[in-house]
Amino acid sequence: MNMDGFQDQTIARDLVQRIHFWARRIPRKVTIMEVCGTHTNSISGAGLRGLMPENVRLVSGPGCPVCVTPTSFLDMAISLARMPGVTIATFGDLVRVPSSKGSLEEAMADGCDVRVIYSPRDLLALGKELRGRRVVFLAIGFETTAPGVAATILESEKVGNILFLVGHKLIPPAIEALLSAEEVNLDGLILPGHVSAIIGQEPYGFVSERFGIPGVIAGFTPLDVLAAIAEILQQLVFGSPKVVNNYGRVVRPEGNPRAREVMASVFEPCDGVWRGLGEIRGSGLRLRPPWRDLDASRLVTEVVETVEPKGCRCGDVLKGLLDPPECPLFGLHCTPEGPRGPCMVSSEGACGAWYRNERIRGGLK
Ligand code: SF4
Repeated sequence: MNMDGFQDQTIARDLVQRIHFWARRIPRKVTIMEVCGTHTNSISGAGLRGLMPENVRLVSGPGCPVCVTPTSFLDMAISLARMPGVTIATFGDLVRVPSSKGSLEEAMADGCDVRVIYSPRDLLALGKELRGRRVVFLAIGFETTAPGVAATILESEKVGNILFLVGHKLIPPAIEALLSAEEVNLDGLILPGHVSAIIGQEPYGFVSERFGIPGVIAGFTPLDVLAAIAEILQQLVFGSPKVVNNYGRVVRPEGNPRAREVMASVFEPCDGVWRGLGEIRGSGLRLRPPWRDLDASRLVTEVVETVEPKGCRCGDVLKGLLDPPECPLFGLHCTPEGPRGPCMVSSEGACGAWYRNERIRGGLK
């Protein structure tokens, strides 16, 4: 058991022993999904997969915002980028994701004005700097980022030239859709810490009540993740699935009501389209009527036939049906330098994490 990467090797060793102890008492394969892309990186970076018992499989879920953003959203972003007088502001990862009409990076090479920003707050400064142009922010992400964007929208009125292409998504409806899918068979969930800091614990109640599996809200260190896995296995052994909060140092049971209030003052739920999962009822956010003038999608009249990246299996990766190396393109025709799909582009994507950390470790080329 190699514990070199752990700050506290005694705790890590103890947790891994607990995991093996409980796993031995489960006479079948167990599949545990980490919903969040940050957990994916923690698992992959620390080599946790290699510490698991034979019957425990860790799979990634739909918790990488860039990865779940559908091609149709990117097509719209590129249509906007090609309009005269429009500047696109976005987070870095989205720039390299292929769409039906190339990537935003390619649009930049063609002379389109695309700016990478690091927080929604940078947007206000950009809007002021580019008076006379329309600045369109690509608003993606989950409950974690939506409150910050909502606060920026409230302030953007003073600037006057900022619009929003809104692709925000809500995690609980996606988990519910995933667990309802016939082809998906999960035994436990590691629930996202950042999202939970906003929504709290209660919205996940259906995980154990309706689907009868454990869910553990977890922090992001490898030790947090190991503790969550041990908790899930213990619950499976005792046959007492419930949702627990193992990340009490950050997540309060009620979440952050103030952040939710700001979010709800600007956005309302709508059906959302997810890469891999399709349209999920109530899983998206759109601007409330008083803010609809700021909706950049109103500018797009061009109808683009959506073309998905050929051969890319991101949809299956995001449902935990496929480990990235099982995609025929992984590492050969799809690498971080030449990505075919968002799961290889994004810093939170499963394919990128496997490529960076597990390709060599697992003997994959
Ligand atoms: S390896 Fe590349 S092509 Fe395959 S699923 Fe991942 S991102 Fe898509």
